[in-house]
Amino acid sequence: MKTNKLPTHSSVVVIGGGIMGCSALYHLAKENVTDAVLLERNELTSGTTWHSAAQVRALRSTQNLTDLIRYSVDLYSKLEEETGQMTGWMNTGSLSIATNKDRLIHIKRQEALAHLFGVQAQTISAGEAKERWPLMNTDDVIGAVWSPDDGRVGPSDICAALAKGAKARGAKIFENTGVTGILTKNQKVVGVETAKGTIHCDAIVLATGLWSRKAGAMGGVSVPAWPCEHFYLLTKPVPEIKGALPTLSDHDSHLYIRDETGGFLVGCFEPHARAIDPDKLGEDFSFGLLKEDWDHFEPMSLNALHRVPLLETVEVKQLLNGPEAFTPDGTFMLGESAETKGFYLCCGLNSIGIAIGGGAGMALAHDIVHGYPPMDLSELSPKRYPGYFNSAKALAERVPEILGTHYEITYPGRQHKTARNLRLMPLHEEWKSHNARFGQYYGWERPVYFNCLTEPKLTFSRPEWFEQVGLEVGYAHKEAALFDQSPFGKIEVEGPEAESFLNRICTNNMARPAGCAVYTAMLNERGTYESDLTVLRLTDEHYRLLVGTAHIKQDLAWLKRQKKEKERVSFRDATQDFAMMALMGPDSARIAKKINASQWNDLGYFRTMSTTVNGIEIQATRISYVGEAGWELMCPREDAKSLYTMLAQANAKPAGLYAQTSMRVEKKYLAYGHDLNMDMSPLEAGLEFAVHWQSDFIGRDALQRRKEKGIDSSLVLIDFNDLDTVSLGNEPVIINGEMIGRTTSAAFGYRIGSPVAIAFVKHGGAWQPEGQQVEINIAGDIFGGVIRTKPAFDPDGLVMRPVSNT
Ligand SMILES: Cc1cc2nc3c(=O)[nH]c(=O)nc-3n(C[C@H](O)[C@H](O)[C@H](O)COP(=O)(O)OP(=O)(O)OC[C@H]3O[C@@H](n4cnc5c(N)ncnc54)[C@H](O)[C@@H]3O)c2cc1C
Repeated sequence: MKTNKLPTHSSVVVIGGGIMGCSALYHLAKENVTDAVLLERNELTSGTTWHSAAQVRALRSTQNLTDLIRYSVDLYSKLEEETGQMTGWMNTGSLSIATNKDRLIHIKRQEALAHLFGVQAQTISAGEAKERWPLMNTDDVIGAVWSPDDGRVGPSDICAALAKGAKARGAKIFENTGVTGILTKNQKVVGVETAKGTIHCDAIVLATGLWSRKAGAMGGVSVPAWPCEHFYLLTKPVPEIKGALPTLSDHDSHLYIRDETGGFLVGCFEPHARAIDPDKLGEDFSFGLLKEDWDHFEPMSLNALHRVPLLETVEVKQLLNGPEAFTPDGTFMLGESAETKGFYLCCGLNSIGIAIGGGAGMALAHDIVHGYPPMDLSELSPKRYPGYFNSAKALAERVPEILGTHYEITYPGRQHKTARNLRLMPLHEEWKSHNARFGQYYGWERPVYFNCLTEPKLTFSRPEWFEQVGLEVGYAHKEAALFDQSPFGKIEVEGPEAESFLNRICTNNMARPAGCAVYTAMLNERGTYESDLTVLRLTDEHYRLLVGTAHIKQDLAWLKRQKKEKERVSFRDATQDFAMMALMGPDSARIAKKINASQWNDLGYFRTMSTTVNGIEIQATRISYVGEAGWELMCPREDAKSLYTMLAQANAKPAGLYAQTSMRVEKKYLAYGHDLNMDMSPLEAGLEFAVHWQSDFIGRDALQRRKEKGIDSSLVLIDFNDLDTVSLGNEPVIINGEMIGRTTSAAFGYRIGSPVAIAFVKHGGAWQPEGQQVEINIAGDIFGGVIRTKPAFDPDGLVMRPVSNT
């Protein structure tokens, strides 16, 4: 019997009936969550989904994101057979053209990545591009990349098919049923409220598109997503269009163009987009659109006329202006929130919701049911944003820029221009007076290098800051440099059971005397990374965890999740309380003496001491992230200036993040998010020294099994043969014509005098990586290199380990 009555309980409630909600529901049902319920306050697809241009382009910046889209493509091509509901999937291919040299490099880098990720892509000439898209003007086109696997779907049809497939497995959908409240208990989801009644549940999926920020707040969750106007033009049918065209991407003109019902569809990612306050859209914005704005679209229409001159004579049907949700970094949110257990996010799709919807729904359902995603998706983690970005002001400033950057060339060193200065380090003014070029990391403004007098011109070649970074490396290598590491996450772990707790969470031995510093990993039950960190034991019952700058929310959430109910241990984020400076270089010892801190010189490696120097309390730790002798110095935030003045007067010189990166890559110190990830264990990372096998830590059994089986891939160093190679990371590594991996971090190594990269390579256990000659495909050009398993720069007697990531 059919019923419209809401159930009183469901394992999972999905809120929102766009592509994300429908896909999440379908995949939950497929994972046997057959009592899952979807609540939509209007009708299915009535938010953004119904008017989507619905192109599906497979290639993304990482393997796992690309795989999610490939999953979508596979699903979309099979759903009709499964459900009997057509999906409109058309495999038309797509064509990206270049009209300048840097764009050509950009698309060739993408082509190389496509091959690595198993996606078909091929560089073609302007003439060949014209053959595939005869109506295009190719006068200024210098090359193109053809991607045959791409296509498009009917967005509403896909949702109808997903809904049908979900319902066939028992899931239920209720339209005209808005969620008005999210019930939580002890920071865990326990139910949702609607005008038709309450549903008690164990988990929710927030798939509320444009309205997600406010919806998240109902459950105490920060959701930094904000709508932006998004345009495409539709024309009446054009006789010259014969059949389906590939999607033509002309990113230099901010355009994509294809056929639609016999006419043209001309869409844009313009550099001057406009944000909209979601409150102004209202809750009854159902199958709604925003006002046509021809003045705004005019620069884009001129670009379109240049690319497709035939448009001059074509009758316009509609200039569609539909809102879409964007995030501060242009990537969406998928996974459990940091704040509330059982509260899963699937929102802020940044205009790829249709393309990635199938894969994202699958991954989220897997995460909810199994407790972890099917692959490393930390780049999508909602925990990656600082609270600062959840402000309406910051979001409204940032999202128009994000929309525009979708089609920008991804130059190294590119920085956002809007929503800056959200979080200033204690020495911000000092760094400004040294003409720092600032980069934004987890909301913090960090000096990337100094003496920057004008906005640098970005390039794929050797950058303008090359010499300056070399100077800063020189300070650390030959004199003494000061690296501001204040944004490193600092978590205080305290209590009588802090030691046993950390021994369960960390791979290394935490039962060491106060005054020790320990490099360690936190693993999950699968034996792969949750985090890498350095732990200082300050007293018997007090540890300080130094974690990655952008990892603080993730790590705190992980610690809280692992704590047993009655365990006597507490956690606190102390990041803001302390400034942290790394004094590094051969002159550090003299400087310590000069400022009356000679006791630091007696500190052994991996030792930490609390000292008072000229009235300032300083926790000095002898560790290094750059491979030079020195200390990481932590002091109360308010004393940062006094400490800096002392050190600067003693001749310590500021050095920025680029110098630090160059030195850490030479030294093969790994960074989470670049080199390390959740698919990897300390064995592949070469960090088994940080595993204390005698401890019963989380992930130990899985790690043991991995070890017994033998590892088939490793993180290695690549020493380039050609000194002019500019490797940026994310480039295929080839051996005997076969792609075996990719570079994960890269830099010019000033101390070794040559470019160097860290790479993750598969070797099947069959060959020893050391000394292997390899080739690296950088934008279609092949560069030679040699694999090294040891650091490229490793002075005798300097036994130091990394602190954590940048
Ligand atoms: C002009 C344009 C072109 C685009 N082109 C492409 C493209 O080519 N390829 C591509 O992949 N993507 C494209 N997109 C993006 C894509 O359409 C979106 O990413 C996707 O539709 C977002 O889906 P969603 O499920 O997150 O949100 P929505 O479709 O907006 O669904 C959210 C739903 O949540 C409901 N809701 C909100 N609050 C509540 C509540 N409290 N209770 C119950 N229900 C609630 C809403 O009513 C709505 O139906 C385009 C977008 C636009 C605007």
